[in-house]
Amino acid sequence: KEVLLTLNGVKNYFPVKDGALSKAKNYVKAVNDVNLKIYKGETLGLVGESGCGKTTLGKTILQLYKATDGEIIYNFEDGERDLTKLKKDEMDLARKKIQIVFQDPHSSLNPSFTIYQSLSDPLKKFGVKSKEERRKIIGDLLEAVNMRREYMDRYPHEFSGGQRQRIGIARALSINPELVICDEAVSALDVSIQAQVLNLLKDLKEKHNLTYIFITHDLSVVEYISDRIAVMYLGKIVELADAKSLYKNTLHPYTKALLSAIPVADINHKKERIVLEGDVPSPMNPPSGCFFHPRCKHCMDICKSEAPQMKSYTVEGKEHFVSCHLASKQIEEGGLYEEAGT
Ligand code: SF4
Repeated sequence: KEVLLTLNGVKNYFPVKDGALSKAKNYVKAVNDVNLKIYKGETLGLVGESGCGKTTLGKTILQLYKATDGEIIYNFEDGERDLTKLKKDEMDLARKKIQIVFQDPHSSLNPSFTIYQSLSDPLKKFGVKSKEERRKIIGDLLEAVNMRREYMDRYPHEFSGGQRQRIGIARALSINPELVICDEAVSALDVSIQAQVLNLLKDLKEKHNLTYIFITHDLSVVEYISDRIAVMYLGKIVELADAKSLYKNTLHPYTKALLSAIPVADINHKKERIVLEGDVPSPMNPPSGCFFHPRCKHCMDICKSEAPQMKSYTVEGKEHFVSCHLASKQIEEGGLYEEAGT
């Protein structure tokens, strides 16, 4: 498997004042030491409650937010480069490779521009000079997202939410990216439309050899589309595994609680809901040790003082990462799984 993107120790801290009159600064630690590899051609789901840092991480990869620390290494055809070190014009070129689809296409499409005008801009920027050629490309893109070519001369308000999201996807694909970050791309849509857009994303991925980072708070959606899933809590990744393994062999208590909250259609298979105690702590003052310890019913003494390291195991033949003292202890003592290193 070829690596497309590597995140090494990525942090994004936002300064905030400690109070109206105070000069002291504090920091919202939105992304707090993320290490991650994304392979060419995969869909990596990134999940967690709102405020866990997943959207900030997506925008940091795209350099819409500058990383406070760490490396974001992209594997370009002519070699690897750290996106955090690129100059503005170099990053503008790199953006041809990485595109983002937002949750609310209505606010990301200019209401006073026709669809042609909105989709034409990125094409012009990346060198498609002739209007005829741009109209041809945009017509083809609309057809690729199952819409009619003629729609390019209409305005955003003339479309439904699902259609606008298709237009948002067409725009992201217009300059042939390699990596598309879908940020809650189907969360605002009705369930029936969600399924259509998810299937469309899957088809387009195959046709255009895309790699996706699929950011969502919705664990029932992410399993369908993802090859692997990373779970974030308070700016950190706490578990990462093959999508099916994550659901079947869940190791981290936070992931277990998130999964227990997914509604099950079959009333004969009722599952116990794990209710998380307390609120998500402030990312300004994350707890000591394991960030999840104040809400974890398995909390041990060590959890309060020592942050668990991310460790890699082989679970039923699949690589599975988890950062939890208890999960590591159980696996290592029980000899359930073979350790693959740290
Ligand atoms: Fe719970 Fe401890 Fe594991 Fe954190 S390290 S999730 S507190 S058992």
